[in-house]
Amino acid sequence: MTDLASITLPGIDNTSPLMIAGPCSAESEQQIITTAQALAAVGIRVFRAGVWKPRTKPGGFEGVGSVGLSWLQRVRREMGMYTATEVATPQHIEEALNAGIDLLWIGARTSASPFAMQLIADALRGVDIPILVKNPVNPDLELWIGAIERLYNAGLRRIGAIHRGFSSYETHIYRNEPQWYIPIELRRRIPTLPIIGDPSHIGGRRELIAPLAQEAMDMGFNGLIIESHIAPDTALSDAMQQITPAMLQEILSQLVIRNEVVNTELLNDLRRRIDSLDNELIDLLARRMHISREIGLYKREYNMPILQTHRYDEILSKRVAQAVDLHMSPSFMKSILQAIHEESVRQQVEILNKK
Ligand code: PEP
Ligand code: MN
Repeated sequence: MTDLASITLPGIDNTSPLMIAGPCSAESEQQIITTAQALAAVGIRVFRAGVWKPRTKPGGFEGVGSVGLSWLQRVRREMGMYTATEVATPQHIEEALNAGIDLLWIGARTSASPFAMQLIADALRGVDIPILVKNPVNPDLELWIGAIERLYNAGLRRIGAIHRGFSSYETHIYRNEPQWYIPIELRRRIPTLPIIGDPSHIGGRRELIAPLAQEAMDMGFNGLIIESHIAPDTALSDAMQQITPAMLQEILSQLVIRNEVVNTELLNDLRRRIDSLDNELIDLLARRMHISREIGLYKREYNMPILQTHRYDEILSKRVAQAVDLHMSPSFMKSILQAIHEESVRQQVEILNKK
């Protein structure tokens, strides 16, 4: 996908992050217009609002439907903002395109469904519109890439991704776990694909939006989509995570936007040091495996079992404590040791089976 085009819209500066803001849902004409006015006043150029809302269970607020599109048209006309809404079916697409919506996004429940994504891609064949694909609700990078590929194969080029976190059964501080390594891997796989951070849906709470927005910028993401409502406490959906336009302005003014390239010489030097440490790590691991194989030979000679749990438990707890002293997280050290142990066992099994 080397020929992806930028998702930025005419007249919007391509060199700074794309900022999209607006309420989770369009609720009334009054709410849309007052929110959009306040957001335009703080410099937001792209206004979001969901008119069709995918809800977990029936009976919740499922959006105002098509009438909301005419409110977005007013925003476009009167405030000169670009407008964005979520589409999930060919019918939504037809209506959104007829209403002149400038940017579409695919929700997390939709991008998880290849059938829905193919219908959407087919409905968009031959249409040149910027489209953002949220990650699927479950942490499945291939499914996310698959959804993007379906749009690409239908001829769309102004494609971007939105990282909105991944849902899990357990409760965490986040509404949706960020699992940053997934969007980072997405960037590695499709370097030309812009990635937009969605701190509202990751955090689920107002106070998490600022730190998550900063993290997204620190990861080199290309923009943010943030839910903002003129009266967040009264919002009909996602009330806890919506912020006023004034709060949004405050957050954006505090945001540190990192430069792409700073002092390359220093960076190159640090990278060389990382490379050399990585080489040492590999060498150390190879030496450790060599000893594991010698232990394997010994165990074979004396007909001992490979797995000796107490020894492994002892290694694990000792090393994890050492790592914590050196400012590394216990879960990180545990997973490293587990991986090393697995490989040691595999090598010993190989020796045992050689005979
Ligand atoms: C939304 O953007 O309001 C929305 C429904 O998001 P998601 O698909 O990420 O849950
Ligand atoms: Mn929402």
